[in-house]
Amino acid sequence: MKLCILGGGLTGLSLAKSLIKKGLSVDIFLNKKNLDFNKNRTIGISNDNLIYFNKEILDIKKLLWDIKKIEIYSDNLRNEKILNFENNNKTLFAIIKNYQLQSKLFTSLKKEKLCKLKNNINYKQYSITNFGTSNFFELKSLNLRTYYHKNILAFGDLLHRLHPLAGQGFNMTIRDIQDLNNLIDLKLKNGLELDSSICEDFQNTTRHKNYLFSSGIDFIYEFFNLETKMNNNIISKSVRLIGKNKFLNRSFKNIANSGFKI
Ligand SMILES: Cc1cc2nc3c(=O)[nH]c(=O)nc-3n(C[C@H](O)[C@H](O)[C@H](O)COP(=O)(O)OP(=O)(O)OC[C@H]3O[C@@H](n4cnc5c(N)ncnc54)[C@H](O)[C@@H]3O)c2cc1C
Repeated sequence: MKLCILGGGLTGLSLAKSLIKKGLSVDIFLNKKNLDFNKNRTIGISNDNLIYFNKEILDIKKLLWDIKKIEIYSDNLRNEKILNFENNNKTLFAIIKNYQLQSKLFTSLKKEKLCKLKNNINYKQYSITNFGTSNFFELKSLNLRTYYHKNILAFGDLLHRLHPLAGQGFNMTIRDIQDLNNLIDLKLKNGLELDSSICEDFQNTTRHKNYLFSSGIDFIYEFFNLETKMNNNIISKSVRLIGKNKFLNRSFKNIANSGFKI
């Protein structure tokens, strides 16, 4: 099976690296923006995703800044934390500079025999030709209803775009990569051909989880917005109470770390 990835953002490069590790050949079609790394941004990656990334994609341990404690405050309950997450001094998630991750992936892909990086492409074939005027847009999630067209599979932010404050966009993508790799392994183990049916299998495995997860993030955002509109702090106080419950606190932590396992 010949694979082609369009775009060299974090998704494209990470996905390419994981597919190459399986012995698959990948061509990556880049545009100029892909090489223009943004030096100001950082990204938070959950602990489960880091374990997977380091093992199955690329060892990035040296680039990580570990976070072992998270405290969440609300505008409406000044100086009082409403949620507190810790895990026996173990890493909850780690921060990494986007450009360092992207350049490390890029450098490593350049050395791969199974990878071809293509720069000089005629983008007219598939570039966006027109946009309507857009002055503002709502900060909420956007999920594709259909994940694929024939043998073309959407991935990363194209598949699901989240509120940036959630810090979960790339985390969702790493979980998607994991799901896709499991499906590939299953096909190969059963002696089946890797063909476009993998796109439908991927959609059936991930779409409901991704939809639930991104709707949950929208819900949290709207939930706290409601409190601001009501001009009181009842919601923050209730969340503080709920967060003190050990079982619920652990459940919140698990979902943020691993997503929905359904
Ligand atoms: C402020 C902010 C903070 C965030 N924090 C976190 C966080 O803490 N944790 C987390 O998990 N996520 C976070 N995210 C989300 C995360 O950054 C994104 O999910 C992730 O970077 C998306 O990567 P991508 O490769 O899918 O998309 P993009 O970064 O958009 O990359 C797509 C690439 O494809 C290229 N491209 C598009 N069309 C073509 C074409 N026709 N031909 C060739 N190339 C093409 C584009 O130029 C682009 O380089 C944050 C997002 C923001 C905005």
